[in-house]
Amino acid sequence: MEYIATIGMEVHAEILTQTKMFCPCPNDLTAAGPNTHTCPVCLGMPGALPTINRTAVEATILTGMALNCSIAEFTKFDRKNYFYPDLAKGYQVSQYDLPLCSNGHLDVLVDGEPRRFGIRRVHLEEDTARLVHGNGVSLIDFNRSGVPLMEIVTEADLHSPEDAHAYLTKLRQILRYLGVSTGNMDEGAMRCEANISVSPKGSSVLGTRVEIKNINSFRSVRQAIAYEFERQVRVLEEGGRLQQVTMGWDENNLRTVFQRSKEGAEDYRYFPEPDLPPLTIDEHWFKSIQGRMPELPDARCARVTEQYGLRTADAELLTQDRLVADYYEDVVRVCDKKIAPQTVANWVLVELFRLLSETNTEIARCPVSPAALAELLGLLTAETINGTTAKEVLSEMFRSGKGAAEIVEARGLSQISDADALRTVVLQVLEQHSGPVQQYLAGKSQVMGFLVGQVMRQTRGKANVALVTDILRQALAERNQA
Ligand SMILES: [Zn+2]
Repeated sequence: MEYIATIGMEVHAEILTQTKMFCPCPNDLTAAGPNTHTCPVCLGMPGALPTINRTAVEATILTGMALNCSIAEFTKFDRKNYFYPDLAKGYQVSQYDLPLCSNGHLDVLVDGEPRRFGIRRVHLEEDTARLVHGNGVSLIDFNRSGVPLMEIVTEADLHSPEDAHAYLTKLRQILRYLGVSTGNMDEGAMRCEANISVSPKGSSVLGTRVEIKNINSFRSVRQAIAYEFERQVRVLEEGGRLQQVTMGWDENNLRTVFQRSKEGAEDYRYFPEPDLPPLTIDEHWFKSIQGRMPELPDARCARVTEQYGLRTADAELLTQDRLVADYYEDVVRVCDKKIAPQTVANWVLVELFRLLSETNTEIARCPVSPAALAELLGLLTAETINGTTAKEVLSEMFRSGKGAAEIVEARGLSQISDADALRTVVLQVLEQHSGPVQQYLAGKSQVMGFLVGQVMRQTRGKANVALVTDILRQALAERNQA
């Protein structure tokens, strides 16, 4: 029998804010030692009173807007009651029946095919503390307790590991474009769970849902869903029945493992959070958030392709990351039509990307500013330097932070475009290599490459290649006539 998988995704993303969700403690998980960013509110002390972080609310609404959701005019927070050592209060403040955003969708390409995945809801809640296990003890770090967290839930519209991978990739790209989350899965800033059920192909009845938690990388998403699909099919094929359970993804053994039987919503005894006022999002507030919507990845890719006449694949690479797209467009702007946008794209995508990746540097910390790259490309276009020298100069700019003209001047790298000087070198080369010259004259034209190479060598790579080729052709023609 053939089976199909039906998958829903839940993504938790930590929101980039200065302070935590309900208290003024810094939202900063990197700099401080454990339990340094805490107060009575995020430690869950009885009687401590929370306040709502406006920036986190706005970031969630902005995300909902980017995911084509309806934004609630009236919303509230609820208590989700459960006990766990990383949850000091015994409940998490979350949103239950009135999420900030609902009924949206995200359009994604899966293997080149357009797909639309429904977004059921985007709601706002607080993160728990972090448990650190080791040496026979478990420690708790409350710095993460109360960090603003948004939960993004899809409809059960996905059917394969590829769907899930494409969805997550697009979602993370949007979160980063919006600047609302780093989306870094390896740091736990974006975490994902998948609900998966299998049913015979053509059946209208869905199978039993199994939830997979602890999926910590894009690769694991694919592996976990593929594994769980096969496991469930095997159980059904053997005449077994599936239980509604929560499984965890075991990254080391590449398998899902049983964690616990799944709680239903009733187990959480949700009720409205009595210490926080409900929120009304009026038209004025709605519009002011809408006004902050940046150009989103698909729109930007389409515009960049059209406006600069780029190859689609190049435009996609350049707009994958908002900061790269900003960098590229800055260079083009400084070049002010003197250099073809496709040339700029080639230099960013090949040479600059190589230097960034070799040194593991993010574009935000690129030591070569857009203006500096434009200056280098200007020298290249003006034929002050040739392409080989330009690559060398860019490497040095990257290392030293110096300007292109400064490096060219200091190292005497200017291109030799003096025809008389080059002719002298060409004649020397022809004298030194009479063998290849004879071959050329006998009709073996590919020897030209060798002779050009010899001239470049004698000029330490600084000769104007086009000019060298011209002079060589002319000199060889003269010999032919002689
Ligand atoms: Zn606090």
